Amino acid sequence: MGTLAWPLERNHIRRDIRNNSFGYVREGGQKAHQGWDLAATLGTPCYAIADGVIESRATHAEFGKHILLRFEHGGQTLYAAYCHLSFMLVERTEPVQRGQRIGYTGDTGNARSPHGEDQHLHFEIRTVPHPGRGLGGRIDPATLYGRAPIGWTFFEGHGQKVPTSGATGLKIRGVNVRERIE
Ligand SMILES: [Zn+2]
Repeated sequence: MGTLAWPLERNHIRRDIRNNSFGYVREGGQKAHQGWDLAATLGTPCYAIADGVIESRATHAEFGKHILLRFEHGGQTLYAAYCHLSFMLVERTEPVQRGQRIGYTGDTGNARSPHGEDQHLHFEIRTVPHPGRGLGGRIDPATLYGRAPIGWTFFEGHGQKVPTSGATGLKIRGVNVRERIE
């Protein structure tokens, strides 16, 4: 079972609050959140989390422009959903490789958070391609990634976790921290 890539280069839950991760009911509503909201400025590149095939690319009232990536993980067929995109770079049935750029974040569909830190990628892991309402047919992405990136950020390209609070400036190996070559 290969290690999954993360969907973005810089991954943390929108505003670092648990309500924007999986399974939480928000804004006094009835509906539990079906995935993760990963903070991302409009136009942020999205990457295939695994080798797989594009199950669909479509426009939907709720999810907006969205891509479904079908992949195998732990002996199971799963689907990663990338929602509210601005651009989709892949076609249905197209094979893709882990880490391949497949689209750009946006605010299509019912993304009601087009400003500042609320801009995001809505990301789901599904066990069926087109589940209904509620949490059925979906699993917590933390099942695959260990735990939700709340209070820390995972930088995919640098394989590094960085705390999002209490840090005096971000130190990212390979970017703004000089590594000593012994
Ligand atoms: Zn969401």
